[in-house]
Amino acid sequence: MQALRKTRPEAGLELVDIPAPVVEADSSDVLVKVSATGICGSDLHVDDWTPSYAFITRSIPVTIGHEFVGVAQTGPMAGRRVVVRPSVTCGICAACVAGDHDGCEKRRGIGMTRDGAFAPWVRVPLRNCVPVPDSLSDELAALTEPLTISMQALRIAGDVAGQRVLVMGPGTIGQGIAALARRAGARQVVVSGFDDAARFDALRRMGFDALVDVAAQPLAEGARPHTGGEPFDVIFEATGVPETITESLALLRRNGIVVVTGIHARPLLLDLTPMVRNQQQLRGSFRPPESDWPLALELMGEMDAVMRPMVSHVLPLSQAGEGFALAHAKAASKVLLKPDARDE
Ligand SMILES: [Zn+2]
Ligand SMILES: [Zn+2]
Repeated sequence: MQALRKTRPEAGLELVDIPAPVVEADSSDVLVKVSATGICGSDLHVDDWTPSYAFITRSIPVTIGHEFVGVAQTGPMAGRRVVVRPSVTCGICAACVAGDHDGCEKRRGIGMTRDGAFAPWVRVPLRNCVPVPDSLSDELAALTEPLTISMQALRIAGDVAGQRVLVMGPGTIGQGIAALARRAGARQVVVSGFDDAARFDALRRMGFDALVDVAAQPLAEGARPHTGGEPFDVIFEATGVPETITESLALLRRNGIVVVTGIHARPLLLDLTPMVRNQQQLRGSFRPPESDWPLALELMGEMDAVMRPMVSHVLPLSQAGEGFALAHAKAASKVLLKPDARDE
């Protein structure tokens, strides 16, 4: 089968032919026939080989792709459409043995440290599969994983009802956060980006018009027409650019909250004193609890029309190079890759 792989510990990905995975009858794994897989920001980092992804070195060669939907071919869910939690727990640590899978510290990542879904077939643990309601399209279902990341960011922020919210970063995570913040009753949602026309276009189609392009003007200046110069109550960072944290604190009210979701390739030098004096809260947000996955699917059923514009391109896997180029050039909102017919 055709698979998009990291084959060497250096920049680049390779579309190669490898044998399809096999699942033994007594296995706790199932075989999933992939329908669609999203290109994530972290896939771009793996492609670029930025330092924060060097942890996958020991797993190379590995097929990447972790945001996907497919049809289970084996096991008790055979024949059902599923999305798959990419984080695989170890099953043997103290937390896992106690049944606290969210507490597992020894994880492997499908599409990072074990083979993922930029391929027609993928082997995954049965317990990672979550059934998809029939009403949900493959395109939307492929957004489940990023939506759970956005859900976790909202949870970490707390109640945003009536709050003035800034989302820094108009990519899939930022788009999801914006949609969820509006749904939660935020009084205002402003989204900023850097030269992000394609993602701004998706946001406009999602009904957001308070958009600030910081390539054209400073953020404070661009936000002013929307906020009247008032500070934000809650700011979500979804850029992966460390300096945006410094910028966010300057736009945040006293006692306000910044939720950081980006994976930052570089450290940040930050003057902490203004943050301390203003009692601003800087919070990290990463992995949602497993129980969020069925909730995310439910939410997508409800937000179907709002979320639909998030996917801008659907390409065959054989054109993975073009898909990645679009994503790298920020010429796309979300690119999905679908296995080619030849692999069916
Ligand atoms: Zn992702
Ligand atoms: Zn564990």
